[in-house]
This record gives sequence, structure tokens and C-alpha cells, in this order.
Amino acid sequence: MPRGIVPRQPAKTGRQDRATGGRVGAYKTLVETLPHRAAELLPKTGRARAPVPPARDKRQKAGARSYNPLAPERITEILKRLDQQYPKATCALSHSNAWELLVATILSAQSTDVGVNKVTPVIFKKYPTVQDFAALKPEELEPDIRSTGFFRNKSKSVVGAAKKIVSDFGGEVPCGMDQLLTLPGVARKTANVVLGTWFGKNEGLVVDTHVQRVSRRLELTGNEDPKKIEQDLMQVIPREKWTLFSHQIIWHGRKLCMARAPKCADCPLENICHAADKTWSKVEIHKNAK
Ligand code: SF4
Repeated sequence: MPRGIVPRQPAKTGRQDRATGGRVGAYKTLVETLPHRAAELLPKTGRARAPVPPARDKRQKAGARSYNPLAPERITEILKRLDQQYPKATCALSHSNAWELLVATILSAQSTDVGVNKVTPVIFKKYPTVQDFAALKPEELEPDIRSTGFFRNKSKSVVGAAKKIVSDFGGEVPCGMDQLLTLPGVARKTANVVLGTWFGKNEGLVVDTHVQRVSRRLELTGNEDPKKIEQDLMQVIPREKWTLFSHQIIWHGRKLCMARAPKCADCPLENICHAADKTWSKVEIHKNAK
């Protein structure tokens, strides 16, 4: 043994100080004790190399690079699974004609369908026709729709829409996008609900908060603006599916893909969803998918 090297005594605690285990730990301790002899003491095995990633990892990275969330086969698979899970998805707002659906949709902004469904039977009993609504002052309707929130604006919209329908469209809700958009309080979302659900016309997709969130998680769009999201979805979803797809995604957003704590373990789309905020995943996560 070279002079000056004193064998280390076992620690009284039973745990060796700085013991890193095996030969590596022994060399490290020796080099720290005798730094000027490091070159001589280190094993002649050359520089340590970083572990080579297994071939499987390379293949995975290549796969991730070529991944296309809008690939037709992925879209087809999403639609197929939604059809299985929500075969009869439709609008949850109670209505028996186009006018009632229009009013219910206007009231549903920033409110729940359950809350609106409690209010509409009362007001349609009180004011059975569009002409009855057209004869009102907005203030007269306000108390009846107060519970749906934003009741002053909604009241103006409903009464204003009724007046316009009576004066310009002969008392019938128009069945064209351009005409619907002339009604007070009616934007594309409301118009798409009425056109798709009542008139059976696929003029666009309903983009509400659920469609906004779920289509971003599924990487069907990278946009946040509802108008841009609708345009993106119109590019990838077949036209004949627009209305059904909107309702299926709305149901999916309510039942499983909630904003907070989505139920990914129960989701039929789980193994083709890469959302960054998944609560459970068998597949790679994409940080932009949220
Ligand atoms: S796996 Fe999770 S995040 Fe993805 S669609 Fe299903 S519920 Fe939503």
C-alpha cells in the first residue's frame, strides 16, 4: 500500500460516507484523496460513453415526427368511435318548433341546457307564438328569463328577433344562414344549431365551449377563436357529419372530456388522443394539444 493512504474505517452508523457503490465509488474516493495521481489511478477503459438509445426509441421518434393528427384514417377512426359512443346525439334544448329552438339557443349562452329547459316551458306557455313575443317590451320578459343570466341582453335579443321575424319573414324563422344572421342576438353558433337541428342543414359546425376544448385536445385545430375552429373543422370533418359531430362532441365534453379532470381512462378515444392535460394515458403526450 502506498505511503499516506490509510484504509477507510467503516462508519459507526453502518453507512459508508460517499459510498457510491462498487468499483466506481472506490475509484472516485481514491481520486479525491490523491488528485495528482488521477491519470495513473483511473482505469484504462477510455471515456465513459452515454448510453446508446435502443433502436425502439429511434423508431418511436421517427413515428412522432411523421404523426399527422389530421390524417384521414385518424379522422375516420374518431368519427367511428363517436358514432359508437353517441349514436343519437342531438340538441339537449327542449323545443317543438324552430322559434322555440331559436329562443332556447339564445337563452343558453353562458347558461346550462338544464337551466334553460326549466325556463322555456314557462315562457312558451305564457307567450305561445312569435307574435306574442314581438308584442312585448324587453323589460316584460326579463323576470321570466332572469335565472339564465345576462337576462337584459337576452331579453332584447329574443324580443328583437321576434319583431324582425314578424316584420321581415312573415312570422316564420328563416332557414338560411344569411337571413338568420340578420336577427338580433343570432351569431353563427345559434344559426348552426337552428339550421342543423331543426332544418337538417349542414351549413357549419356548432362551436361552443365543449367543441372548442375537445377539438383542441384531439388536435383537430390549433386555434382558440370559435370562427377559426369552425373553419378548421369544416376542412376535416365530412359535411354530412357536421351537425351530428357537433352534438357528439358536446355530449363527449359533458360526459367524459370535461374541462377539469377529464375521464380519460373511460374514454373511447384514449389511445388516439395525445392531449397534454390527459389524466391517464397509454400514448405519447403532445404539449400543444390542449
Ligand atoms: S382521452 Fe381524455 S382528453 Fe382525450 S378526448 Fe378522451 S377524455 Fe378527452
